[in-house]
Amino acid sequence: LSSKLSGVFSGLSRRGRLSEGDVAEAMREVRMAMLEADVALPVVRDFVDKVRERAVGQEILESISPGQAVAKIVNDALIEALGGAGAATLNLSAAPPVAILMVGLQGSGKTTTTGKLGLRLSSRERKRVLLASLDVQRPAAQLQLQQLAERVGVTSLPILPGQSPQEITRRAMKTARQEGYDIVVLDTAGRLSIDEALMQEVREIREIAGPAETLLVVDAMTGQDAVNTAQHFNEAVGVTGVVMSRMDGDARGGAALSMKAMTGAPIKFVGMGEKPEALEEFYPERVAGRILGLGDIAGLVEKASETLDQEESERVAKKMLAGKFDLDDYASQIRQIGKLGSVSNILGMLPGAGKLKEKLGDRDLDTAIFKRHQAIISSMTKAERKTPAIIKASRKKRIAAGSGTTVQEINKMLKQFDDMSTMMKRLNKMGLAGMKQMLSG
Ligand code: GDP
Ligand code: MG
Repeated sequence: LSSKLSGVFSGLSRRGRLSEGDVAEAMREVRMAMLEADVALPVVRDFVDKVRERAVGQEILESISPGQAVAKIVNDALIEALGGAGAATLNLSAAPPVAILMVGLQGSGKTTTTGKLGLRLSSRERKRVLLASLDVQRPAAQLQLQQLAERVGVTSLPILPGQSPQEITRRAMKTARQEGYDIVVLDTAGRLSIDEALMQEVREIREIAGPAETLLVVDAMTGQDAVNTAQHFNEAVGVTGVVMSRMDGDARGGAALSMKAMTGAPIKFVGMGEKPEALEEFYPERVAGRILGLGDIAGLVEKASETLDQEESERVAKKMLAGKFDLDDYASQIRQIGKLGSVSNILGMLPGAGKLKEKLGDRDLDTAIFKRHQAIISSMTKAERKTPAIIKASRKKRIAAGSGTTVQEINKMLKQFDDMSTMMKRLNKMGLAGMKQMLSG
Protein backbone atom coordinates (compact mmCIF):
# COMPACT_ATOMS: atom_id res chain seq x y z
CA LEU A 1 0.00 0.00 0.00
CA SER A 2 1.08 3.56 -0.65
CA SER A 3 3.29 5.04 2.00
CA LYS A 4 1.40 8.15 0.97
CA LEU A 5 -1.44 7.01 3.18
CA SER A 6 0.58 7.06 6.34
CA GLY A 7 2.12 10.29 5.11
CA VAL A 8 -1.31 11.87 4.96
CA PHE A 9 -2.24 10.58 8.36
CA SER A 10 0.90 11.69 10.10
CA GLY A 11 0.62 15.03 8.29
CA LEU A 12 -2.54 15.80 10.22
CA SER A 13 -0.92 17.32 13.21
CA ARG A 14 -3.09 20.11 14.51
CA ARG A 15 -4.98 19.75 17.74
CA GLY A 16 -8.69 20.40 18.16
CA ARG A 17 -11.34 19.16 15.79
CA LEU A 18 -10.85 17.29 12.52
CA SER A 19 -11.55 19.65 9.63
CA GLU A 20 -13.30 18.75 6.40
CA GLY A 21 -10.05 19.26 4.54
CA ASP A 22 -8.09 16.92 6.81
CA VAL A 23 -10.68 14.22 6.43
CA ALA A 24 -11.19 14.65 2.68
CA GLU A 25 -7.53 14.10 1.95
CA ALA A 26 -7.33 11.09 4.21
CA MET A 27 -10.46 9.64 2.65
CA ARG A 28 -9.02 9.85 -0.85
CA GLU A 29 -6.22 7.61 0.32
CA VAL A 30 -8.54 5.24 2.13
CA ARG A 31 -10.56 4.94 -1.07
CA MET A 32 -7.42 3.99 -3.01
CA ALA A 33 -6.40 1.46 -0.39
CA MET A 34 -9.79 -0.20 -0.50
CA LEU A 35 -9.91 -0.35 -4.28
CA GLU A 36 -6.44 -1.84 -4.29
CA ALA A 37 -7.69 -4.45 -1.84
CA ASP A 38 -10.41 -5.38 -4.34
CA VAL A 39 -13.39 -3.93 -2.53
CA ALA A 40 -16.29 -3.29 -4.94
CA LEU A 41 -16.66 0.36 -5.95
CA PRO A 42 -20.22 0.97 -4.66
CA VAL A 43 -19.20 -0.52 -1.32
CA VAL A 44 -16.14 1.73 -1.17
CA ARG A 45 -18.22 4.83 -1.93
CA ASP A 46 -20.76 3.99 0.70
CA PHE A 47 -18.09 3.29 3.27
CA VAL A 48 -16.10 6.43 2.60
CA ASP A 49 -19.23 8.61 2.82
CA LYS A 50 -20.16 7.12 6.17
CA VAL A 51 -16.71 7.54 7.61
CA ARG A 52 -16.39 11.09 6.35
CA GLU A 53 -19.60 12.00 8.12
CA ARG A 54 -18.44 10.40 11.29
CA ALA A 55 -14.96 11.94 11.25
CA VAL A 56 -15.56 15.59 10.39
CA GLY A 57 -15.81 17.69 13.49
CA GLN A 58 -14.68 14.88 15.71
CA GLU A 59 -12.71 16.12 18.67
CA ILE A 60 -9.16 14.90 18.96
CA LEU A 61 -7.98 13.67 22.29
CA GLU A 62 -4.79 15.10 23.72
CA SER A 63 -3.06 11.74 23.85
CA ILE A 64 -3.32 10.86 20.15
CA SER A 65 -2.60 12.70 16.93
CA PRO A 66 -5.30 13.65 14.40
CA GLY A 67 -3.84 11.06 12.04
CA GLN A 68 -4.27 8.38 14.63
CA ALA A 69 -7.77 9.62 15.32
CA VAL A 70 -8.87 9.36 11.67
CA ALA A 71 -7.15 6.01 11.29
CA LYS A 72 -9.00 4.70 14.30
CA ILE A 73 -12.35 5.92 12.98
CA VAL A 74 -11.65 4.25 9.63
CA ASN A 75 -10.55 1.05 11.25
CA ASP A 76 -13.52 0.87 13.63
CA ALA A 77 -15.96 1.52 10.79
CA LEU A 78 -14.31 -1.18 8.72
CA ILE A 79 -14.55 -3.73 11.51
CA GLU A 80 -18.19 -2.84 11.94
CA ALA A 81 -18.86 -3.18 8.21
CA LEU A 82 -17.21 -6.59 8.26
CA GLY A 83 -19.57 -7.84 10.94
CA GLY A 84 -18.28 -6.38 14.21
CA ALA A 85 -15.43 -7.45 16.46
CA GLY A 86 -15.09 -11.11 17.34
CA ALA A 87 -15.76 -14.19 15.25
CA ALA A 88 -19.16 -15.16 13.85
CA THR A 89 -20.06 -18.66 14.99
CA LEU A 90 -22.03 -21.54 13.55
CA ASN A 91 -25.64 -21.83 14.54
CA LEU A 92 -25.91 -25.41 15.75
CA SER A 93 -28.68 -24.99 18.26
CA ALA A 94 -31.36 -26.96 16.36
CA ALA A 95 -32.33 -30.48 17.44
CA PRO A 96 -29.78 -33.05 16.28
CA PRO A 97 -28.94 -34.19 13.73
CA VAL A 98 -28.15 -30.65 12.59
CA ALA A 99 -27.43 -30.39 8.88
CA ILE A 100 -24.80 -28.06 7.43
CA LEU A 101 -25.13 -27.65 3.69
CA MET A 102 -21.99 -26.73 1.76
CA VAL A 103 -22.57 -24.94 -1.54
CA GLY A 104 -20.41 -23.16 -4.08
CA LEU A 105 -18.84 -23.36 -7.50
CA GLN A 106 -16.66 -26.26 -8.56
CA GLY A 107 -13.13 -25.93 -7.27
CA SER A 108 -14.03 -23.30 -4.68
CA GLY A 109 -12.95 -25.59 -1.84
CA LYS A 110 -16.23 -27.18 -0.67
CA THR A 111 -14.90 -30.69 -0.17
CA THR A 112 -11.73 -29.49 1.52
CA THR A 113 -13.78 -27.24 3.81
CA THR A 114 -16.17 -30.10 4.59
CA GLY A 115 -13.21 -32.12 5.85
CA LYS A 116 -11.90 -29.14 7.81
CA LEU A 117 -15.27 -28.58 9.45
CA GLY A 118 -15.54 -32.27 10.25
CA LEU A 119 -12.21 -32.15 12.03
CA ARG A 120 -13.01 -28.95 13.87
CA LEU A 121 -16.47 -29.96 15.05
CA SER A 122 -15.40 -33.41 16.15
CA SER A 123 -12.13 -32.51 17.87
CA ARG A 124 -12.81 -29.01 19.22
CA GLU A 125 -16.49 -29.21 19.90
CA ARG A 126 -16.66 -32.93 20.59
CA LYS A 127 -19.58 -33.46 18.24
CA ARG A 128 -20.45 -36.73 16.54
CA VAL A 129 -20.10 -35.75 12.92
CA LEU A 130 -21.15 -37.51 9.73
CA LEU A 131 -19.82 -36.29 6.38
CA ALA A 132 -21.68 -37.05 3.17
CA SER A 133 -20.78 -36.25 -0.42
CA LEU A 134 -23.71 -35.50 -2.71
CA ASP A 135 -21.40 -34.89 -5.64
CA VAL A 136 -22.39 -37.39 -8.31
CA GLN A 137 -21.09 -35.11 -11.06
CA ARG A 138 -17.50 -36.19 -10.88
CA PRO A 139 -16.75 -39.90 -10.45
CA ALA A 140 -14.02 -39.44 -7.85
CA ALA A 141 -15.74 -36.79 -5.75
CA GLN A 142 -17.36 -39.11 -3.22
CA LEU A 143 -14.14 -41.02 -2.86
CA GLN A 144 -12.25 -37.75 -2.26
CA LEU A 145 -14.47 -36.93 0.71
CA GLN A 146 -14.28 -40.48 2.04
CA GLN A 147 -10.48 -40.36 2.03
CA LEU A 148 -10.48 -36.94 3.62
CA ALA A 149 -12.86 -38.16 6.33
CA GLU A 150 -10.58 -41.10 7.07
CA ARG A 151 -7.62 -38.77 7.29
CA VAL A 152 -9.31 -36.53 9.87
CA GLY A 153 -10.87 -39.44 11.76
CA VAL A 154 -14.50 -38.59 11.05
CA THR A 155 -17.16 -40.97 9.72
CA SER A 156 -18.40 -40.57 6.18
CA LEU A 157 -21.59 -41.97 4.72
CA PRO A 158 -20.87 -45.25 2.87
CA ILE A 159 -20.88 -44.77 -0.89
CA LEU A 160 -23.75 -46.41 -2.79
CA PRO A 161 -23.25 -46.02 -6.53
CA GLY A 162 -26.23 -44.96 -8.64
CA GLN A 163 -27.99 -42.79 -6.04
CA SER A 164 -29.09 -39.24 -6.80
CA PRO A 165 -27.99 -36.34 -4.57
CA GLN A 166 -31.52 -36.23 -3.16
CA GLU A 167 -31.44 -39.93 -2.31
CA ILE A 168 -28.05 -39.59 -0.67
CA THR A 169 -29.35 -36.68 1.39
CA ARG A 170 -32.30 -38.73 2.66
CA ARG A 171 -29.98 -41.61 3.48
CA ALA A 172 -27.52 -39.33 5.28
CA MET A 173 -30.22 -37.77 7.46
CA LYS A 174 -31.77 -41.15 8.21
CA THR A 175 -28.42 -42.66 9.14
CA ALA A 176 -27.66 -39.68 11.37
CA ARG A 177 -31.00 -39.99 13.17
CA GLN A 178 -30.68 -43.73 13.65
CA GLU A 179 -27.06 -43.70 14.72
CA GLY A 180 -27.22 -40.61 16.91
CA TYR A 181 -25.02 -38.15 15.05
CA ASP A 182 -25.07 -34.52 16.18
CA ILE A 183 -24.11 -32.97 12.88
CA VAL A 184 -24.29 -33.95 9.21
CA VAL A 185 -22.15 -31.98 6.79
CA LEU A 186 -23.49 -32.27 3.24
CA ASP A 187 -20.94 -31.58 0.53
CA THR A 188 -22.72 -30.71 -2.72
CA ALA A 189 -21.53 -30.74 -6.31
CA GLY A 190 -20.49 -27.48 -7.91
CA ARG A 191 -20.58 -26.23 -11.46
CA LEU A 192 -18.06 -24.19 -13.32
CA SER A 193 -20.55 -21.37 -13.43
CA ILE A 194 -23.88 -20.67 -11.87
CA ASP A 195 -26.75 -22.42 -13.61
CA GLU A 196 -30.38 -23.02 -12.80
CA ALA A 197 -29.98 -26.82 -12.66
CA LEU A 198 -27.43 -26.46 -9.85
CA MET A 199 -29.64 -24.08 -7.92
CA GLN A 200 -32.67 -26.34 -8.32
CA GLU A 201 -30.67 -29.31 -7.05
CA VAL A 202 -29.49 -27.31 -4.03
CA ARG A 203 -33.05 -26.18 -3.30
CA GLU A 204 -34.28 -29.78 -3.32
CA ILE A 205 -31.48 -30.93 -1.07
CA ARG A 206 -32.21 -28.06 1.30
CA GLU A 207 -35.87 -29.07 1.35
CA ILE A 208 -34.93 -32.62 2.39
CA ALA A 209 -32.21 -31.84 4.91
CA GLY A 210 -33.58 -28.62 6.46
CA PRO A 211 -30.06 -27.33 7.21
CA ALA A 212 -29.37 -24.99 10.13
CA GLU A 213 -26.54 -23.52 8.09
CA THR A 214 -26.09 -23.14 4.36
CA LEU A 215 -22.45 -22.24 3.97
CA LEU A 216 -21.24 -20.81 0.71
CA VAL A 217 -17.60 -21.53 -0.04
CA VAL A 218 -15.94 -18.94 -2.26
CA ASP A 219 -12.39 -18.64 -3.48
CA ALA A 220 -10.94 -15.43 -2.03
CA MET A 221 -8.50 -15.21 -4.92
CA THR A 222 -11.33 -14.60 -7.39
CA GLY A 223 -12.09 -11.21 -5.88
CA GLN A 224 -15.05 -9.51 -7.50
CA ASP A 225 -16.23 -12.80 -9.06
CA ALA A 226 -16.56 -14.22 -5.58
CA VAL A 227 -18.91 -11.38 -4.71
CA ASN A 228 -21.07 -12.02 -7.79
CA THR A 229 -21.18 -15.71 -6.94
CA ALA A 230 -22.26 -14.91 -3.40
CA GLN A 231 -25.04 -12.64 -4.60
CA HIS A 232 -26.35 -15.29 -6.99
CA PHE A 233 -26.29 -18.09 -4.45
CA ASN A 234 -27.86 -15.92 -1.81
CA GLU A 235 -30.73 -14.93 -4.07
CA ALA A 236 -31.29 -18.45 -5.38
CA VAL A 237 -30.90 -20.63 -2.29
CA GLY A 238 -30.30 -18.37 0.70
CA VAL A 239 -26.93 -18.38 2.40
CA THR A 240 -26.45 -18.23 6.18
CA GLY A 241 -22.71 -17.85 6.14
CA VAL A 242 -19.68 -17.62 3.90
CA VAL A 243 -16.38 -19.47 4.02
CA MET A 244 -13.58 -17.73 2.15
CA SER A 245 -11.07 -20.29 1.00
CA ARG A 246 -7.50 -19.58 -0.15
CA MET A 247 -7.02 -16.65 2.20
CA ASP A 248 -3.48 -18.01 2.57
CA GLY A 249 -2.82 -16.57 -0.88
CA ASP A 250 -2.16 -12.91 -1.46
CA ALA A 251 -5.84 -11.94 -1.67
CA ARG A 252 -6.24 -8.73 0.29
CA GLY A 253 -9.63 -9.71 1.57
CA GLY A 254 -11.55 -6.84 0.02
CA ALA A 255 -14.06 -9.36 -1.27
CA ALA A 256 -14.98 -10.11 2.33
CA LEU A 257 -16.19 -6.56 2.81
CA SER A 258 -18.09 -6.46 -0.47
CA MET A 259 -19.72 -9.77 0.26
CA LYS A 260 -20.90 -8.74 3.70
CA ALA A 261 -22.17 -5.42 2.38
CA MET A 262 -23.97 -6.90 -0.62
CA THR A 263 -25.44 -10.13 0.77
CA GLY A 264 -25.58 -9.44 4.49
CA ALA A 265 -24.36 -12.99 5.08
CA PRO A 266 -21.61 -13.07 7.69
CA ILE A 267 -18.28 -14.59 6.86
CA LYS A 268 -17.81 -17.41 9.31
CA PHE A 269 -14.51 -19.04 8.40
CA VAL A 270 -11.46 -18.54 6.26
CA GLY A 271 -9.44 -21.30 4.62
CA MET A 272 -5.74 -20.78 5.22
CA GLY A 273 -4.30 -23.71 3.30
CA GLU A 274 -4.95 -27.17 1.95
CA LYS A 275 -4.43 -29.07 5.20
CA PRO A 276 -7.45 -30.16 7.28
CA GLU A 277 -6.29 -27.97 10.16
CA ALA A 278 -6.12 -24.86 8.01
CA LEU A 279 -9.54 -23.43 8.84
CA GLU A 280 -9.77 -20.30 10.97
CA GLU A 281 -12.60 -18.30 12.37
CA PHE A 282 -13.16 -15.02 10.59
CA TYR A 283 -12.07 -12.06 12.69
CA PRO A 284 -13.19 -8.74 11.15
CA GLU A 285 -10.42 -6.92 13.02
CA ARG A 286 -7.73 -8.97 11.29
CA VAL A 287 -9.20 -8.55 7.84
CA ALA A 288 -9.66 -4.83 8.42
CA GLY A 289 -5.92 -4.56 8.93
CA ARG A 290 -5.31 -6.56 5.81
CA ILE A 291 -7.59 -4.39 3.71
CA LEU A 292 -6.05 -1.15 4.88
CA GLY A 293 -2.53 -2.45 4.57
CA LEU A 294 -0.73 -3.68 7.60
CA GLY A 295 1.87 -1.49 9.20
CA ASP A 296 0.12 1.49 7.74
CA ILE A 297 -3.24 2.57 9.10
CA ALA A 298 -3.13 -0.53 11.22
CA GLY A 299 0.11 0.69 12.74
CA LEU A 300 -1.43 4.01 13.64
CA VAL A 301 -4.48 2.34 15.10
CA GLU A 302 -2.29 0.14 17.20
CA LYS A 303 -0.52 3.14 18.60
CA ALA A 304 -3.79 4.89 19.27
CA SER A 305 -5.65 2.14 21.02
CA GLU A 306 -3.68 -1.00 21.57
CA THR A 307 -0.51 0.09 23.26
CA LEU A 308 -2.24 0.27 26.59
CA ASP A 309 -4.05 -3.02 26.03
CA GLN A 310 -0.82 -4.69 25.08
CA GLU A 311 0.98 -3.48 28.17
CA GLU A 312 -1.91 -4.65 30.27
CA SER A 313 -1.94 -8.05 28.55
CA GLU A 314 1.73 -8.56 29.15
CA ARG A 315 1.37 -7.62 32.79
CA VAL A 316 -1.48 -10.12 33.20
CA ALA A 317 0.37 -12.82 31.26
CA LYS A 318 3.25 -12.53 33.70
CA LYS A 319 0.90 -12.82 36.65
CA MET A 320 -0.83 -15.80 35.06
CA LEU A 321 2.44 -17.62 34.64
CA ALA A 322 3.45 -16.79 38.20
CA GLY A 323 0.17 -18.28 39.42
CA LYS A 324 -0.93 -14.91 40.82
CA PHE A 325 -3.85 -14.37 38.51
CA ASP A 326 -6.86 -12.96 40.41
CA LEU A 327 -10.40 -11.88 39.57
CA ASP A 328 -9.29 -8.30 38.95
CA ASP A 329 -6.95 -9.57 36.27
CA TYR A 330 -9.68 -11.73 34.87
CA ALA A 331 -12.02 -8.72 34.71
CA SER A 332 -9.33 -6.63 33.09
CA GLN A 333 -8.87 -9.30 30.46
CA ILE A 334 -12.53 -9.59 29.63
CA ARG A 335 -12.82 -5.85 29.21
CA GLN A 336 -10.46 -6.26 26.33
CA ILE A 337 -12.34 -9.00 24.55
CA GLY A 338 -12.59 -8.16 20.92
CA LYS A 339 -9.40 -6.16 21.03
CA LEU A 340 -5.84 -7.21 21.00
CA GLY A 341 -5.00 -8.73 24.34
CA SER A 342 -7.95 -11.02 24.99
CA VAL A 343 -7.50 -14.12 27.09
CA SER A 344 -6.98 -16.22 24.01
CA ASN A 345 -4.37 -13.80 22.77
CA ILE A 346 -2.55 -14.19 26.04
CA LEU A 347 -2.67 -17.92 25.55
CA GLY A 348 -1.42 -17.30 22.05
CA MET A 349 1.66 -15.64 23.52
CA LEU A 350 2.68 -18.92 25.13
CA PRO A 351 4.77 -21.14 22.89
CA GLY A 352 2.75 -23.92 21.27
CA ALA A 353 -0.47 -22.80 22.89
CA GLY A 354 -2.62 -23.37 19.81
CA LYS A 355 -3.69 -26.78 21.10
CA LEU A 356 -4.49 -25.32 24.48
CA LYS A 357 -6.76 -22.79 22.84
CA GLU A 358 -8.46 -25.64 21.05
CA LYS A 359 -9.06 -27.39 24.34
CA LEU A 360 -10.62 -24.29 25.81
CA GLY A 361 -12.74 -24.04 22.71
CA ASP A 362 -14.54 -20.78 22.15
CA ARG A 363 -15.45 -20.42 25.78
CA ASP A 364 -13.05 -17.59 26.28
CA LEU A 365 -14.44 -15.69 23.33
CA ASP A 366 -18.08 -15.74 24.30
CA THR A 367 -18.81 -12.05 24.76
CA ALA A 368 -22.26 -12.48 26.30
CA ILE A 369 -20.92 -14.68 29.06
CA PHE A 370 -18.08 -12.29 29.68
CA LYS A 371 -20.43 -9.35 30.01
CA ARG A 372 -22.20 -11.26 32.79
CA HIS A 373 -18.90 -12.16 34.36
CA GLN A 374 -17.91 -8.54 34.34
CA ALA A 375 -21.15 -7.58 36.10
CA ILE A 376 -20.57 -10.27 38.70
CA ILE A 377 -17.00 -9.19 39.39
CA SER A 378 -17.95 -5.54 39.72
CA SER A 379 -20.40 -6.50 42.48
CA MET A 380 -17.61 -8.05 44.54
CA THR A 381 -15.54 -6.42 47.25
CA LYS A 382 -11.83 -5.87 46.74
CA ALA A 383 -11.05 -8.70 49.14
CA GLU A 384 -13.29 -11.06 47.24
CA ARG A 385 -11.63 -10.22 43.96
CA LYS A 386 -8.17 -10.82 45.41
CA THR A 387 -9.08 -14.03 47.24
CA PRO A 388 -12.03 -15.71 45.51
CA ALA A 389 -11.86 -18.60 48.00
CA ILE A 390 -13.61 -16.48 50.64
CA ILE A 391 -16.73 -16.24 48.48
CA LYS A 392 -19.11 -18.56 50.33
CA ALA A 393 -22.90 -18.94 50.17
CA SER A 394 -23.99 -15.66 51.81
CA ARG A 395 -21.50 -13.59 49.82
CA LYS A 396 -22.68 -15.31 46.64
CA LYS A 397 -26.29 -14.32 47.42
CA ARG A 398 -25.24 -10.70 47.90
CA ILE A 399 -23.19 -10.66 44.69
CA ALA A 400 -26.02 -12.27 42.73
CA ALA A 401 -28.48 -9.65 43.93
CA GLY A 402 -26.02 -6.86 43.18
CA SER A 403 -25.20 -8.04 39.66
CA GLY A 404 -28.66 -9.19 38.63
CA THR A 405 -27.43 -12.75 38.16
CA THR A 406 -27.91 -16.03 40.03
CA VAL A 407 -25.77 -17.97 42.49
CA GLN A 408 -25.54 -20.65 39.83
CA GLU A 409 -24.01 -18.23 37.37
CA ILE A 410 -21.54 -17.09 39.99
CA ASN A 411 -20.55 -20.68 40.61
CA LYS A 412 -20.05 -21.20 36.90
CA MET A 413 -17.88 -18.14 36.61
CA LEU A 414 -15.76 -19.10 39.61
CA LYS A 415 -15.35 -22.57 38.15
CA GLN A 416 -14.16 -21.17 34.86
CA PHE A 417 -11.77 -18.84 36.64
CA ASP A 418 -10.52 -21.78 38.72
CA ASP A 419 -9.98 -23.95 35.65
CA MET A 420 -7.95 -21.20 34.10
CA SER A 421 -5.83 -20.60 37.20
CA THR A 422 -5.22 -24.32 37.68
CA MET A 423 -4.13 -24.67 34.12
CA MET A 424 -1.79 -21.72 34.47
CA LYS A 425 -0.24 -23.15 37.62
CA ARG A 426 0.22 -26.50 35.96
CA LEU A 427 1.82 -24.92 32.92
CA ASN A 428 4.08 -22.94 35.15
CA LYS A 429 5.22 -26.02 37.09
CA MET A 430 5.96 -27.94 33.95
CA GLY A 431 8.16 -25.26 32.52
CA LEU A 432 8.39 -24.64 28.83
CA ALA A 433 9.76 -28.06 27.90
CA GLY A 434 6.99 -29.94 29.66
CA MET A 435 4.43 -27.60 28.26
CA LYS A 436 5.51 -28.30 24.74
CA GLN A 437 5.43 -32.02 25.42
CA MET A 438 1.89 -31.91 26.80
CA LEU A 439 0.65 -29.78 23.98
CA SER A 440 2.13 -31.96 21.28
CA GLY A 441 0.97 -35.18 22.95
P1 GDP B 1 -14.62 -28.28 -4.50
O1 GDP B 1 -14.70 -28.60 -5.96
O2 GDP B 1 -15.39 -27.03 -4.19
O3 GDP B 1 -15.04 -29.42 -3.64
O4 GDP B 1 -13.11 -27.92 -4.18
P2 GDP B 1 -12.00 -28.80 -3.43
O5 GDP B 1 -12.32 -28.86 -1.99
O6 GDP B 1 -11.84 -30.09 -4.12
O7 GDP B 1 -10.73 -27.87 -3.57
C1 GDP B 1 -10.13 -27.53 -4.81
C2 GDP B 1 -8.65 -27.24 -4.59
O8 GDP B 1 -8.47 -26.11 -3.76
C3 GDP B 1 -7.92 -28.38 -3.89
O9 GDP B 1 -6.68 -28.56 -4.54
C4 GDP B 1 -7.74 -27.88 -2.49
O10 GDP B 1 -6.60 -28.44 -1.89
C5 GDP B 1 -7.58 -26.40 -2.69
N1 GDP B 1 -7.99 -25.61 -1.53
C6 GDP B 1 -9.17 -25.66 -0.85
N2 GDP B 1 -9.18 -24.77 0.18
C7 GDP B 1 -7.97 -24.15 0.17
C8 GDP B 1 -7.36 -23.11 0.98
O11 GDP B 1 -7.94 -22.56 1.94
N3 GDP B 1 -6.10 -22.75 0.64
C9 GDP B 1 -5.44 -23.31 -0.41
N4 GDP B 1 -4.21 -22.88 -0.67
N5 GDP B 1 -5.97 -24.27 -1.18
C10 GDP B 1 -7.22 -24.69 -0.92
MG1 MG C 1 -15.93 -31.21 -4.15
